[in-house]
Amino acid sequence: MKRLIFGLSLVLSLAACSEQKPASEKVSTEPAAAPAIAVKLANEKDPSCGMAISPDAKDTAHYKGKVYGFCSESCKNEFVKDPAAYVKE
Ligand SMILES: [Zn+2]
Repeated sequence: MKRLIFGLSLVLSLAACSEQKPASEKVSTEPAAAPAIAVKLANEKDPSCGMAISPDAKDTAHYKGKVYGFCSESCKNEFVKDPAAYVKE
């Protein structure tokens, strides 16, 4: 009789463990699911100098709800001075 009770409690504790696992896994995967690069650049070429932009460009500027990338900070500064001159819509 004692053995049966021990076996039953073991099964119950195992069941409890397997129930908890999916919940904890779900929480831990959420931050990793977010992409490293959140913004998508509106341009493929630097509006200031015409050079190709890398998708992970650090020099970016927001203009009319879009994100523009630049090859360098100086190109970004040129764009920010007069964005309308570079963006044709
Ligand atoms: Zn440039």
